[in-house]
Amino acid sequence: MAAEIIDGKKVASEWMDSISAELSSLSPPAKLALIRVGDDPASGIYLRKKEEACKKAGVLSQLMHFDKNATRAQVLEKITQFNNDKSINGILLQVPIPAHLDVLALQEAINPLKDVDGFGPYSLGLLAMGNPKLKAATPAGVMKLLQYYNLDVASKFCVVVGRSNIVGKPLAQLLLMQNATVAIAHSKTNDLGSLTKQADFLFVAVGKPKLINAKMVKKGAVVVDIGMNRSGEDDVKLFDGSKAKSPPPVGDVDFNSVKKKASYITPVPGGVGPMTVASLMANVLQAYKLQKK
Ligand code: NAP
Repeated sequence: MAAEIIDGKKVASEWMDSISAELSSLSPPAKLALIRVGDDPASGIYLRKKEEACKKAGVLSQLMHFDKNATRAQVLEKITQFNNDKSINGILLQVPIPAHLDVLALQEAINPLKDVDGFGPYSLGLLAMGNPKLKAATPAGVMKLLQYYNLDVASKFCVVVGRSNIVGKPLAQLLLMQNATVAIAHSKTNDLGSLTKQADFLFVAVGKPKLINAKMVKKGAVVVDIGMNRSGEDDVKLFDGSKAKSPPPVGDVDFNSVKKKASYITPVPGGVGPMTVASLMANVLQAYKLQKK
């Protein structure tokens, strides 16, 4: 039997409605500062979505766009300014940023109470201790999806493919907090398929289209595809100067083959992606409350 498709769009929309109801009643309104460095096209798309979400939720937003040659000192100065600005409740540094900037140093500079992406060392440290304040947005969105579909990971074997600080590692910590048994795989893992085939829950956050095929999945597993692989273009310019929509992103899982074997599966697009934006708005609300304490 084919897997049930996890509808991230629907879940995110319901979640956004409840967060927006609370956010739009705040006085003064919550405010999110967004920082972009350079012109990575996918970042442009993500930031646009985040600004739209702010508008919908009654959150003010302010975008600071540096050119790709900005220095670390320039970006740090802006972060300090946002840290000290009491009207700003959340600061988000859109990644990736140009290689000459030290992304960890910049993330570390963000006031932990305004770290709405949950990527800073304080947020990740608290999460590792099992007591998070602001949870990394994408992993928190994944956990919300599981909760919505009553998919309990307690005592289940969960495999997370990918160990980035923004997805793989914090997701593994959140799963541990729910009493899952967790293994993390990465590019140096031997025989990936033999590990993923044992997983009751398989989470994939790598950035390689169709890395996971049906042979690598256990029958009846829950498969969550976090991968979002874009062609690299924003809107495509046609010969007559008009614009066509860029092709939709593809995930890390071979959806068509794996859906025949899994019990539940997230599509790309329409799975984890919409949850990330809702999760960010939940963190803006949480940051606002933490700052009022
Ligand atoms: P990342 O920082 O590049 O990390 C990728 C991870 O995958 C690394 O840990 C890497 O291992 C591992 N990896 C690479 N090749 C592998 C292989 N052949 N087998 C097993 N593991 C392998 O990426 P990220 O920021 O975590 O993002 C991962 C994916 O999720 C991307 O497609 C990204 O666009 C997507 N994403 C989606 C959302 C969303 O909202 N849906 C949000 C964030 C990210 P090493 O550590 O050994 O290098």
